[in-house]
Amino acid sequence: MQIFYTQSSLRNFLNAKHSIGFVPTMGALHEGHLELIKASKKSNKTTVCSIFVNPTQFNNPQDLEKYPRTTEQDIALLESVDCEVLFLPSVEEIYPTPNILTFDFGYQNSVMEGKFRPGHFSGVGVVVSKLFNIVQPHKAYFGQKDFQQCLIIKQLVQELFFPIELIIVDTKREADGLAMSSRNKRLNDEARAIAPKLYQTLQFAILQTAHSDVKEISLKCSQILNAIPLITVEYVEFVDWETGKIVESLQNGRKYGICIAAQVGEVRLIDNIIFVA
Ligand code: AMP
Repeated sequence: MQIFYTQSSLRNFLNAKHSIGFVPTMGALHEGHLELIKASKKSNKTTVCSIFVNPTQFNNPQDLEKYPRTTEQDIALLESVDCEVLFLPSVEEIYPTPNILTFDFGYQNSVMEGKFRPGHFSGVGVVVSKLFNIVQPHKAYFGQKDFQQCLIIKQLVQELFFPIELIIVDTKREADGLAMSSRNKRLNDEARAIAPKLYQTLQFAILQTAHSDVKEISLKCSQILNAIPLITVEYVEFVDWETGKIVESLQNGRKYGICIAAQVGEVRLIDNIIFVA
């Protein structure tokens, strides 16, 4: 695997390469990230993974400070799946001058992650735009795990006319159902043991759609989870996959996501499940 630290060296290497697949990450890689790399390798000649812990997308400075950084291990994992290129820029390389750009994704800024993490999607929009311009991939791979992120990246690509095909990859889970996440490393034993309750509750929610209305189900899910010590729910929402809007009723045949965010011990986790009503 070739590793590049500067945009100019990466650009030189990628110059005129056909079929570039791009997987942007913040590192602390796990099998979920590797699924994205594998998907890219299947349909592109060159796969570029970036590892960059982007300061502008952290609304909470402590979260940025505590974000796990495991570069040596990440390099070994990327080599194990034959990723061709790693882009590993410094903060100064991506932000040579203090960031002045902002993105407003309208509705998405006002709900779920947009509401609970002010400024988060703006930072994601800025860094993904910069990375898209540097790498100029033909295809870019994102995880369904970050449901709303998929929606805003779709918006970004449409609004800025990036000639990039977006591929959404299914969420990779631990054997007990917990969605893999770099943040899971920070769960203590007690929190780790109850964390799969998030996914179990999402599955319960789908079953309930046969006979209960959406608002009741969301409320019930929050009640079930909030009754577990160490868990505090931020939201449980049903979202239309096409429009990205929170819904209060379901239409047969349409695709929806049920999105959840909760504090589990010291760690804030998100998850979602997609289903057709
Ligand atoms: P992150 O490093 O958390 O910014 O994630 C980088 C990419 O990996 C994003 O597109 C995430 O949605 C994706 N990702 C994270 N966790 C998973 C997972 N468990 N399964 C599939 N994709 C994931």
